[in-house]
Amino acid sequence: MKYISTRGQIKPIGFQDAVMMGLADDGGLIVPESIPSVADRLDELAAMDYPALACEIIGLFATDIPTNDLRELMRRTYGERYFTNDEAGLSGGGRVAPSVPVGDLHILELWHGPTLAFKDVALQLLGNLFEYILARRGGRLNILGATSGDTGSAAIHGCRGRDGLDIFIMHPRGRVSEIQRRQMTSVLDANVHNLAVEGSFDDCQRIMKTLASDIDFKRTYSLGAVNSVNWARVLAQIVYYFKAAFDVTAATGAQAVRVSVPTGNFGDILAGYYARRMGAPISGLILATNENDILSRFFNTGVYSLGEVYRTLSPSMDIQVASNFERYLFYKVGCDGGRIREMMEQFGKTGSLEIETDGPVDPLFTAGAADRQAVLATIRDTYRQHNYVLDPHTACGVHVANQQPGGDPLVCLATAHPAKFPDAVAAATGRDDLATHPCIAELMAAEERCTVLPEDIEAVRSFIENTVAGHSA
Ligand SMILES: *Cc1c(COP(=O)(O)O)cnc(C)c1O
Repeated sequence: MKYISTRGQIKPIGFQDAVMMGLADDGGLIVPESIPSVADRLDELAAMDYPALACEIIGLFATDIPTNDLRELMRRTYGERYFTNDEAGLSGGGRVAPSVPVGDLHILELWHGPTLAFKDVALQLLGNLFEYILARRGGRLNILGATSGDTGSAAIHGCRGRDGLDIFIMHPRGRVSEIQRRQMTSVLDANVHNLAVEGSFDDCQRIMKTLASDIDFKRTYSLGAVNSVNWARVLAQIVYYFKAAFDVTAATGAQAVRVSVPTGNFGDILAGYYARRMGAPISGLILATNENDILSRFFNTGVYSLGEVYRTLSPSMDIQVASNFERYLFYKVGCDGGRIREMMEQFGKTGSLEIETDGPVDPLFTAGAADRQAVLATIRDTYRQHNYVLDPHTACGVHVANQQPGGDPLVCLATAHPAKFPDAVAAATGRDDLATHPCIAELMAAEERCTVLPEDIEAVRSFIENTVAGHSA
């Protein structure tokens, strides 16, 4: 399998190069040259455990990794060591992605990884892939990232202790929650560098982008990225859509399922789109946003236009520009890279772009938004009626799912454990003892390590230079 750019201006590259490149060199996103189908092998795939299924699905795209190596990578990523907690009775997708019936819905719990959020599913694999690729190619990699909270901790846990790489994650000092900070700063491995920058998230991001676009610096220090545009992240997520569709069709006797996805950067739901195109038994994708509803407006009207960013109860979805959306748009315009260049240029200038449509953009997608009141009511009602506690991101998806007409079974992606967002759960239920997890309790007592830096590109640059110099000394 070769990879091309949505903007059509890179030479086709292999999977390992695509993983190392992150964003395409022409500014576009990397996509596979074709989408393979497994429609004639569904029975065989449905019988597999998670690591085996991951090997089959990912193997169709990672054709430059020998099957035995891939099998070992998947076992290491999704085998026993993946899991952080010992809750008994998880079935179906095993502990990576169990589907749990809650009333009429099936909650796909994707938070069984080390940071209790679905980003672990992809970032645990990405860390292993980096290590694997570096071991073969030689050299080192320095991951530089900026985080407003969740991605940073999942990236750190994915890269900790890996040979050949260092990870530098900037967060805005004092502007992430205590749980988010501790999930990063309590990781004491020598290759993990937490940088608390005296500034905002936007400042952190500006520093990252400036350093990443300094071609000399990027080359000398072989800078890599773990952000959500990395193809390997989307690819890893395709697997659990298959797993959930197999588990829930088997449990209910239905032919297919509908899947509701709380969405920010369009990364997670894009994986559902690929799964469906590959032949997964999915009859509909339900896109759920919070008040930051640029994506739900697009799917309902065809107009993708920037609004203001609101702070909500589900901060990981407080996003306006969805960085993975360009991949969907690419398919929507018939894989025409020139057209994408025009559209993105227009979007850059005017903050708006449009697809011609009479009504909804795509029959596969239904879209809706959940405001603060809806999120709180959904958490409260789900707890009262089913004794099940949702986190505020998952609650957006459950709210929109509950508004759907009857049809195929509804699977709702649970993207975080509620213990990561105890304030929202307390506001919804009036109780502060519902959103707990042993990992979080442990975290509160753990030692922390972190370097405070001024909001200054040169300070971050020298920190990286000094760290790398220390390795060769
Ligand atoms: C990142 C995140 C999301 C949004 O996922 P996208 O792939 O950006 O759409 C939703 N919920 C939680 C808890 C997250 O961390």
